[in-house]
Amino acid sequence: MELSIAGQLNKIKQSLPPQVELVVVTKTHPVEKIQEVLDAGHAVFGENRVQEMVDKAAQLPDTVQWHLIGHLQTNKIKYIAAFVHLIHSVDSLYLLQEINRHAERHKRTINCLLQVYIAKEETKFGLSAEELNELLISDEFAELRHVRVIGLMGMASNVADEGIVRDEFKQLKKLFDSCKMELSQAADWKTLSMGMSSDYRVAIEEGSTLVRIGSAIFGNR
Ligand SMILES: *Cc1c(COP(=O)(O)O)cnc(C)c1O
Repeated sequence: MELSIAGQLNKIKQSLPPQVELVVVTKTHPVEKIQEVLDAGHAVFGENRVQEMVDKAAQLPDTVQWHLIGHLQTNKIKYIAAFVHLIHSVDSLYLLQEINRHAERHKRTINCLLQVYIAKEETKFGLSAEELNELLISDEFAELRHVRVIGLMGMASNVADEGIVRDEFKQLKKLFDSCKMELSQAADWKTLSMGMSSDYRVAIEEGSTLVRIGSAIFGNR
């Protein structure tokens, strides 16, 4: 028999090591289904589209922590700046500067992850290792007071070969560790967002501290 949404959620939660945070990816799912996750005691959700996040946030309690996990356009920042908990998908200094500007307006500091390109596929967003380095050592980055970069996010190739996926996660963990060592704000670096339904077990073995899981809880979209 198939488990309910709450049943799947609890099974996954119990399997996660204590240091690994779970973001339940709610994209495409209606609020009635999301309510089942809330009722089961979990209130940390990820959406990949600004409009969908805003619509759902309006219908659900303020206690929900909203994570933006999809590509963010600068003209959409204003819709989420007041409440977003963590933006996983920052892939340029300009985007970070714009988030900073909106965060200041709302008198808050927005936590961000820098998205790194680790997959072989051309379509994935993210910074290269060189671009990441350049961003982190720039004077412009050092000036930002209303964003806090707390780590990295990456998506592995969507392939069946576990060896490829594992190598990509290894590469991201290595980058994460070297950034942490070299940065003056090293204490802030605590989040390595990697792993989704198909590959989160491998990601955890390779050092993930946050997994983003949708279909393993809700079923296929
Ligand atoms: C959709 C999505 C996920 C979750 O994918 P599942 O396969 O449903 O677990 C994780 N991360 C990002 C960036 C996504 O867009």
